[in-house]
Amino acid sequence: MAKAKHRFLSGFLAASFMAATPGMAPAQSAATAPAPIVQTVAPAAQTPAPAPQLDVADMIAWRHDIHAHPETAFEETRTAAKVEALLKSWGIETHTNIGGTGVVGVLRGQNTGPNSHSICMRAELDALPMTETTTGLDYVSTVPGKAHTCGHDAHMAMLLGAAKYLSETKNFTGTVYFIFQPAEEKGGGAKAMIDDGLFNFVHCDMGIYGMHDWPGLKAGQIGISEGNITAASDDFSIKITGKGGHAAYPADNIDAISLASDIVKQLHQYANTQIPASDGAVLAITMLHGGEAVNVMPEKVEIDGTARTFNPATQDKLAQAIQDISQRVAASYGAKVEVQYNRGYPSVFNSHDQTENAKAAAAKVVGADNVVPFARTMGGEDFSYYTQLVPGAYIALGQWDGKSPKVQLHSPNFNFNDATIATGANYWIKLVETELPLVTPPPPPAAPAPGKPPAP
Ligand SMILES: [Zn+2]
Ligand SMILES: [Zn+2]
Repeated sequence: MAKAKHRFLSGFLAASFMAATPGMAPAQSAATAPAPIVQTVAPAAQTPAPAPQLDVADMIAWRHDIHAHPETAFEETRTAAKVEALLKSWGIETHTNIGGTGVVGVLRGQNTGPNSHSICMRAELDALPMTETTTGLDYVSTVPGKAHTCGHDAHMAMLLGAAKYLSETKNFTGTVYFIFQPAEEKGGGAKAMIDDGLFNFVHCDMGIYGMHDWPGLKAGQIGISEGNITAASDDFSIKITGKGGHAAYPADNIDAISLASDIVKQLHQYANTQIPASDGAVLAITMLHGGEAVNVMPEKVEIDGTARTFNPATQDKLAQAIQDISQRVAASYGAKVEVQYNRGYPSVFNSHDQTENAKAAAAKVVGADNVVPFARTMGGEDFSYYTQLVPGAYIALGQWDGKSPKVQLHSPNFNFNDATIATGANYWIKLVETELPLVTPPPPPAAPAPGKPPAP
């Protein structure tokens, strides 16, 4: 749903008609002789400037340019330079090379006194290491094996569009921080920026906000929910060492294959019986490797899998269970086992207040009826590193046009729906104007009346 503000040609009273003779009323002129009529044009100095507007065409052009030149994790130099140049061109203070290629824009509003507030908004710079298959685009990826198939090109364009508009209008009090981070898809660019001192100079006392395009929601809808909304995505490996030997004499060996299948069964049983279904946790065994010949019992077998959780306590419980079950089963066989549990991105947590703020801003853009629940997703998101430190809210921007087949994020033919670009940018603008409202300063004290001595 496009909600671009239309150009407002106001107050341009280009022509007026008046009597040729100064001081003579038109009626008197008509009664005597027809006065010549001249057309005058208001002096340019009196013409009000057009109201600032959200420039949708610019945003689409920036997106298409970024889309054609995708860059992956921590290599987003061209993209970062473009973001920096645009922010600077609007007089926005910029900080670069944070956590690698990260860029931060700092925009101060009309009052930045000690009691003013600040808000943070984030977009991602990176593309995916995959080949785009969308056809018929004149801005298709020009880089083999890299593509903006998660919509981060649009995330940047929308945040830039909002930054430009806000820099022109400054219809807010306090400070806005625009965070453009590297490596969301892989590498944890959010954490890299934090580790590089992001929050030493960026202050988010009103919260940090993120947005993702969402093909599961209709264009014109915005999905928002409180609580844990993305899964923590971890992986694990279990390396078993038994005793290999001739398959004809199993009693002389330690059967690592059998041991591995016991571990797999017990892990599934644990996840199904000890983790409440309402936790929404997933444990999946995805690889099982062992053996090279039909008549040889292998010495080593490896199990690999993934664990997805929303609740940090469940995450800890599952990690511990994988360790305990593996050790116990291996001990019962007299085998050795080595378990490695790798924590990926944590779960994004939407705080109560920031979720309500996001809903209020979204309702101003798409109407309250189009602000819908954001069903939590098993996908991972490194925005979670921010929400571990700062209250925040991460929302979903509807993409589906209601007709075409839905194309999921990370599909080789995913492409952002440009009809929704203004909706996303307007959400950012309304969020700033709502959370950092202009405060009219109190009138100055009345001057003392002339002739009277000033009050003591
Ligand atoms: Zn992605
Ligand atoms: Zn993404």
